[in-house]
Amino acid sequence: VAPVITIDGPSGSGKGTVASLLSMRLGWNLLDSGALYRLLALAASNHGIDLANEELLRVLATHLDVQFLPAEAEYSQRIMLEGEDVTNVIRSEYVGAGASQVAAWPAVRSALLLRQHAFRQLPGLVADGRDMGTVVFPDASLKIFLTASAEERARRRFLQLKESDSDVTLGSLLDDIRKRDARDTQRTVAPLKPAVDAIQLDSTVLSIEQVLGRILEEVAI
Ligand code: C5P
Repeated sequence: VAPVITIDGPSGSGKGTVASLLSMRLGWNLLDSGALYRLLALAASNHGIDLANEELLRVLATHLDVQFLPAEAEYSQRIMLEGEDVTNVIRSEYVGAGASQVAAWPAVRSALLLRQHAFRQLPGLVADGRDMGTVVFPDASLKIFLTASAEERARRRFLQLKESDSDVTLGSLLDDIRKRDARDTQRTVAPLKPAVDAIQLDSTVLSIEQVLGRILEEVAI
């Protein structure tokens, strides 16, 4: 079976960027599992499905028509839902909040499990999310848990959003991040927590390049 490196952590820790750079460096496949939950939330909204309806969400998750296409120029993937490019749409705060709600349903999580396992192909997989090391790929050869302070994560998000959204404030983002963290760590199914065998890195004090360097050192061992 193909080897897996998992990178888990809260939103804004930099795990998406690190996972994408690492997969490019190694020439491995990439799984952005958060995108699956975001895609499900967007599909539910498009089809008028209530985020409280676990059974309908399970059915939707099972039949979700998604594609991850390698981008030509940049490192990020192009993400398609029902044939439409939704790469940018799924990054909105609105879709993110919906993702965190659909992710709380056990039936949704198990419906997405097989889909996630399908990404495990040779020569290897870098998987980024919340429960990659604990639930989805417990036998991964290397597990990273990447954190950063809530303040630093809000600051990064603010810098990203302020060009496109002039209404956004640092305070409201910090508030959103704290609420999302609470939901992700306190939920009963697959709560956000480091796997017992995970290496913890704090990106508040490390640059993306430094984090990548630390991970590559572990890969080389
Ligand atoms: O990582 P990202 O911010 O794109 O994830 C969106 C939401 O999806 C998170 O807030 C989290 O609730 C959920 N998620 C999850 N399990 C994963 C990845 C994401 O529950 N493996």
